[in-house]
Amino acid sequence: MLSEEGRSAVKITEIRIKLMDEPGERLKAFCSITFDDSFVVRDLKIIEGAGGLFVAMPSRKLTARCPACRTKNHLRAQYCSQCGIRLKEQPIAKDEGGRAKLYADIAHPINSKCREMIQSRVIQAYEEEKARSLLPGYVPSYDDYDEEQTAEAAEPIPRPESQHKAHTDEPAVPPPPHKPPETIPQKRREGDQGAETFES
Ligand SMILES: [Zn+2]
Repeated sequence: MLSEEGRSAVKITEIRIKLMDEPGERLKAFCSITFDDSFVVRDLKIIEGAGGLFVAMPSRKLTARCPACRTKNHLRAQYCSQCGIRLKEQPIAKDEGGRAKLYADIAHPINSKCREMIQSRVIQAYEEEKARSLLPGYVPSYDDYDEEQTAEAAEPIPRPESQHKAHTDEPAVPPPPHKPPETIPQKRREGDQGAETFES
């Protein structure tokens, strides 16, 4: 493995693996890698493909803006998550393999030497982590500090009773929002008439 060193301008100095390993799942693990003791990239994925394991770079979902309220929705959304209007099917670009391009890499190697170096090191680290996980007292090396959490409210959460229509027989629990609050652009709601015509 050390013969890989020197072929690529950057060196991986640490790899941390979080095993998923649920039977039947193609996603085998998450990992973070440190370059030159200086720069960490998180959320790489180790995936079982048709031709064996491969490493997917961290990526984000591509989005398109709603024509009415300008909210970003993911490319295959049928309805705007903010104003509820029905969206036309988007033309979706294809990647080199002819698959729909729904994600874009956030961080990635720009040459095949570096890609191969990352992939072989990460897969080796994955195999080692898997072997370690069988030993008693195993502790994963990947720190989970950014796992999804539910925030605590600073004040009691008001029950939206006043907004309930008389004829609904919904439980008192407020329905889940269809969009996380931080992405709701409150100022831009001029074309709001779609909100009440939400179909299901
Ligand atoms: Zn909208």
